[in-house]
Amino acid sequence: MYSKLKQLKWCILGGDKRDAHFAHSLLKCDYDVKVCGVPQIDELPGRAMVNDLEDAVKDADVLVCPVTGTDPQGVLRKSTVPIDLTAVLSRTSKLKVLVIGTANEAVSKAAALAGALVVESMRDDELAILNSIPSAEGAIQIAMENTDFTIHGSASIVLGMGRTGLTLASTLLSMHSNVSIAARKRSDLARGRALGFSPIHFDDLACELPVFDLIFNTVPSLVLDAKLMRVVKKTAVIIDLASPPGGTDFESAKAEGIKAILAPGLPGLVAPRTAGEILASVIPRLVHESLESLS
Ligand code: NAP
Repeated sequence: MYSKLKQLKWCILGGDKRDAHFAHSLLKCDYDVKVCGVPQIDELPGRAMVNDLEDAVKDADVLVCPVTGTDPQGVLRKSTVPIDLTAVLSRTSKLKVLVIGTANEAVSKAAALAGALVVESMRDDELAILNSIPSAEGAIQIAMENTDFTIHGSASIVLGMGRTGLTLASTLLSMHSNVSIAARKRSDLARGRALGFSPIHFDDLACELPVFDLIFNTVPSLVLDAKLMRVVKKTAVIIDLASPPGGTDFESAKAEGIKAILAPGLPGLVAPRTAGEILASVIPRLVHESLESLS
């Protein structure tokens, strides 16, 4: 599939072990791949690893950066060496496509100047839904490591019924937790009810929150604020999966003596091989579609 993509030069720039597994999966399929700023894993052949950044990117047609993206200045959030992506983009000569989780203004501008198309991988439903599997398992792993009770029989709530929230709630239910979901859309609450969760509207959260042992947030806005924190059980554990800074007032949680954990990048941490294979199953399609849009 996508045999033309194998004639292009790929560079995987920055990331964690998932990106190393991603590179390995592409190499196994005969893609021409260089890797820089990515941790070494046993499976990755030494010939693919390039220490010199200039060397790695100079003739790349496709540049793939981590799903965690960059800081506002354009520096990659995950890399074994500091990499300013905006500076890198100014040094590419034939770049066609930049793939990155989400591109901020600095990165979008630099890519446009380099004449490259930008593909924001985290906007893709297939990738986000597949990623929700290791994310859900990772969140539950953190819950198990931070509690002295079983998931079975616990009262848990998942805030947000999007791609991650739905998978997480389903996984908790399969472990016999008593699962509630919070959403703001009536249709999401109805879907949750149909799937066997207890639906709670965000407007009613203050009344309902005190019963929960485990609170998982997937909403990328401040939803667990200081006011709500006052009604959370002191023994509850909050695990926030939303991208940093998360949707929890961590200062208030600390002041109330409640354990609250921000848990970014779970796929790469808990299941780097699967997460890398997921990237390899989706990103070639994204690049193919992007190049097709030009013709
Ligand atoms: P998603 O599909 O867009 O779901 C987000 C959910 O949040 C939707 O149900 C949305 O509801 C709800 N929401 C957004 N703003 C809200 C608000 N102000 N009040 C109430 N609900 C609100 O996103 P996703 O793919 O599930 O990802 C969710 C977050 O998790 C993102 O920040 C993502 O980066 C992060 N993530 C983290 C990991 C990790 O390893 N920690 C892994 C995957 C994803 P509406 O439809 O009503 O807007």
